[in-house]
Amino acid sequence: MEVIETVDRMQQSAEYLRSAGNTIAVVPTMGFLHEGHLELMRVGKIHADTLVITIFVNPTQFGPGEDYEQYPRDPEGDLKAAESVGVYVVFMPAAGEMYTDMHQTRVTVERLPNHLCGLSRPGHFDGVTTVVAKLFHITKPHLAIFGQKDYQQLAVISRMVMDLNMDIKIIGVPTVREPDGLAMSSRNKYLSDDERASALCLKKSLDAAQELMDAGETESRVISSRLEALINSHPFTEIDYIELCDPVTLDHADRLEEETLLALAVRVGQTRLIDNCVLRRAE
Ligand code: AMP
Repeated sequence: MEVIETVDRMQQSAEYLRSAGNTIAVVPTMGFLHEGHLELMRVGKIHADTLVITIFVNPTQFGPGEDYEQYPRDPEGDLKAAESVGVYVVFMPAAGEMYTDMHQTRVTVERLPNHLCGLSRPGHFDGVTTVVAKLFHITKPHLAIFGQKDYQQLAVISRMVMDLNMDIKIIGVPTVREPDGLAMSSRNKYLSDDERASALCLKKSLDAAQELMDAGETESRVISSRLEALINSHPFTEIDYIELCDPVTLDHADRLEEETLLALAVRVGQTRLIDNCVLRRAE
């Protein structure tokens, strides 16, 4: 496994791999790797000859007062984990390597960010699309793997790839969970034991919503208010949003359709957690 820190070297390596006839899969991450990240890597390996991962805590996707400085980092542990799943190249640049003092370009997707996390994190998705576009130009992948845990991110990146005619296949991987249902996340490290117990309210909400739908509920606001009560019954929680929406446009849905995205963002103590599922009407 090769660890590359410069853009030039990564581009040369990707070019070499391509010219030797290899297909490249990339898994962009912010590091502090967990089983969810490793699952993306395994999927990448199935679909391509060589797997490149990127580890970069991208400053431009964090807003003022967010956790850029505190974001957990463990480069040594990450390299061991990457090696264990057969990663070929790890691209691990410093912030100054990705954003020089002269940097002044931003990639913006117009409408999809005006929903869900985009409303509470202004500018976040511009940061994401800009860095992912850069990482695509640097690692030159044939395909790229993202987690459905960050549903809106996957939607925004898929849109960017289509709109800018990038010749890259995007693959979404279902959310990997702890045995008790908590979605794996690098930010789970911030949770105290009591907060960790309360954080289960996210997955409980997803399950409760599907049960309500199975029992015939069709009104989004009924589901939202039931979930609001459920989440509020857990200590340390503060709801950012509970949203039922169209899985493609992310526009709010008043009524449940065949498929409706349920997306949640809940602060548990100081930690903002997200989760989602697509609710489906039973056959
Ligand atoms: P991050 O390091 O949080 O930026 O995540 C890097 C990639 O891993 C993104 O595509 C995430 O959606 C994905 N990811 C994070 N957590 C999970 C999870 N629990 N299951 C599946 N994918 C995940």
